[in-house]
Amino acid sequence: MRKLLYCILICNLLFMLSALSILTNTSRVVHAATFQAAISSTTLGRGDSGKVSSWTNAHYFTRHGPPVSIELTFDDGPNPIYTPLILHILARYHIHATFFTIGRQVQSYPSLVRQEHQQEDVVGNHSWSHPDLTRLTLQAIHTQLQATSVAIQRATGASPLFFRPPYGSTNAQVRRVASQLGLQQILWTIDTRDWQRPGVNQIVHTVLTQATNGCIILMHDGGGNRSQTVQALPLIITGLLQRGFTFTIV
Ligand SMILES: [Zn+2]
Repeated sequence: MRKLLYCILICNLLFMLSALSILTNTSRVVHAATFQAAISSTTLGRGDSGKVSSWTNAHYFTRHGPPVSIELTFDDGPNPIYTPLILHILARYHIHATFFTIGRQVQSYPSLVRQEHQQEDVVGNHSWSHPDLTRLTLQAIHTQLQATSVAIQRATGASPLFFRPPYGSTNAQVRRVASQLGLQQILWTIDTRDWQRPGVNQIVHTVLTQATNGCIILMHDGGGNRSQTVQALPLIITGLLQRGFTFTIV
């Protein structure tokens, strides 16, 4: 009698385990199908080789747990070629980002900065001409940051509240001058190194393997050929959405 009870117990256990396994697999298939659909719907989101199969790996899009947020930032713009493409992608996914703009380019392309502002993206200060601020005099740091804030204010009607020092190079003096101009320093936590043009898949891989709650991702919309960044962006966005991330701005 006891043997029979044991047998029934083990059979029930095995049945429950197999049911659980079917449920998990079904959920994964649904995730994969949704992810494929998201990728198929984008025309820009193709890797260097035109293949996207490597981004269907399960570990990129199965996530359960509390809500997580992440922030996209773009430096060294505005750029007449790449900034409009990035703005178009952000608008398509209803996502907002932060642009750390260079003052002299704001002066050259004010309408792009205005568009960033109108799309409710954050326009930040990235100095006038991208020097290492820690090597400048106090007065020169002030001029670099103030002239940029004035250019942004002229273009958008609003003074910037945030700045990112070029190269992430900063010290107490830089922070003090910025603070006097009402600017809070924002650095980053994930460096995509997109400016080195490591390949679309590598840029996407860097973000999706390092993404954690509260991360700030560094990318570039200016300063050189940013076509890889533009191609990587839809894959980064869909990959992060699949992992349950929401996008925030500073
Ligand atoms: Zn920069």
